[in-house]
Amino acid sequence: MTMQVPLSFQERPYAREHFLKIAEYARLNNAFYKQWLAGQDQVPILDRKTFLENNDAILNGQSHNGKTSGSTGVPVRYIHSPRRRAMSQADTQAFIKALGGKMRCLRMVYKRTQSDREKADPDLMDVKSPIAQQIEYILQRRREGQITAITTYPSNADMLAQEILERGIDVSFIERFGLFSENVEPFQRERVQQAFPNAKIWTSYSSMEFGMIAAQCQHEPDFHHIMAHRLGVEVLKENEDAPAEDGERGRVVITDYVNRRSPFIRYEIGDYAVKGACPCGKTALPALRSIYGKVRGALVHRDGKRHLFADISYDLRDLPGMRQYQVVQHSVEDFTVRIHAAQPLDEEVKAIFLNHFGYLPEGLKMDYMDEIAKGENGKFYHSICEV
Ligand SMILES: [Zn+2]
Repeated sequence: MTMQVPLSFQERPYAREHFLKIAEYARLNNAFYKQWLAGQDQVPILDRKTFLENNDAILNGQSHNGKTSGSTGVPVRYIHSPRRRAMSQADTQAFIKALGGKMRCLRMVYKRTQSDREKADPDLMDVKSPIAQQIEYILQRRREGQITAITTYPSNADMLAQEILERGIDVSFIERFGLFSENVEPFQRERVQQAFPNAKIWTSYSSMEFGMIAAQCQHEPDFHHIMAHRLGVEVLKENEDAPAEDGERGRVVITDYVNRRSPFIRYEIGDYAVKGACPCGKTALPALRSIYGKVRGALVHRDGKRHLFADISYDLRDLPGMRQYQVVQHSVEDFTVRIHAAQPLDEEVKAIFLNHFGYLPEGLKMDYMDEIAKGENGKFYHSICEV
């Protein structure tokens, strides 16, 4: 049976060809896909839950050499061949070159392992270090290592920027600031720019299992160009497997053309994005406009539907005296709102919930604290949904 190319790729010859190649390969050679695609002419969407249930079959008898951070539960295990790795690295190199070349850069990221290389690298710091310590280290690396660039997660960058602005610290020596691995909220970008006035900010959209998925356009910072030579990226409607309209927010579904060892074919990664042609006119590469957080960035309403957290998040962030917040949903009715703020905000938070939910959840609790801890993987989540 001939397999159909997803609608999003039908007008794109390269995507058509490579999608069919990997799908055919997997159907013939991979234990999971042999069954998953047997007798199918449409390639089904593979959600994370199904992937995890079949992870061993997808690994096809080989042991994995990479896994996701597992911040939301069980990590996804995958294999990257040396060629797959090299392609990913080449993309990163090309991106750095387009930014203007390599700089002395301090990276504040999650340290999964204490390998010797990391121990010996003075320009790598554990993102879970307290913010004050991170600032000290930035100044120290400036004096001792002449750093001019920083790369870290947006949530961490935002906390750094807040403290730098409050304490009036001069970090004008930073010329480039990279935000990666999480979706970037516009307010985070603005605050980082304020704190680091001379920094050119770049962002990329990436994940462990795919590497860089899209990189910020050098001309139109609101757009990210997709790494379309190795990834097929679809943005699909919320409730049906048809492409979202231009400008419509949809589910991100990714096919890796290169990963034959542990194929990802129409894998729904759990992010949301809006597709849109970049107006730069410099490349024919498809682009994303706005990338939203993971499904974990959604909360479940009484009607059983998940609603993106981003919409409520902006209102919480804008409350007077709000420093940091995190909403944890334990069940449909039970929420804990962790708050680090200058004053109590109970009534304001309730009003925001009422406004966005249309009702007040029965078990809405506020918990005031001085600092809200980052997740195991060093990232900070504004929302955690346990439902
Ligand atoms: Zn562009």
